[in-house]
Amino acid sequence: MNCLFCKIVAGEIPSTKVYEDETVLAFRDINPMTPTHILVIPKMHIPSVDGVTAENSAVVAHIFEVIPTIAAAEKLVNGYRVVSNCGADAGQTVQHLHFHILGGRELTLEMA
Ligand code: AMP
Ligand code: ZN
Repeated sequence: MNCLFCKIVAGEIPSTKVYEDETVLAFRDINPMTPTHILVIPKMHIPSVDGVTAENSAVVAHIFEVIPTIAAAEKLVNGYRVVSNCGADAGQTVQHLHFHILGGRELTLEMA
């Protein structure tokens, strides 16, 4: 499949990993919008939030279990934001479900 994040999962494209387990991968965003900018993705290909179903939502729940662990490891003690862009109006550019963890500075009401 011609999917950038599937290629990162497969190790065909390098990434700076910060967390990995059987079903989830987290790595640093190549174009950070905040001092800490991490993407958390399911290893399985789900195109976006619109692709979350009763059959695959366990991995999404797991992502949200992992996010506080990553935030603690990154010392985001003052807080952070979790964002998932879904579709064109939201500006989704990679069609593989991902959750941005944004932190390391005070955030405005814009995405970052
Ligand atoms: P979105 O615009 O919500 O679809 O987010 C896609 C994100 O992927 C953007 O923040 C990009 O900077 C990031 N990105 C694109 N290519 C890579 C890559 N090879 N490694 C890490 N992050 C990437
Ligand atoms: Zn994919």
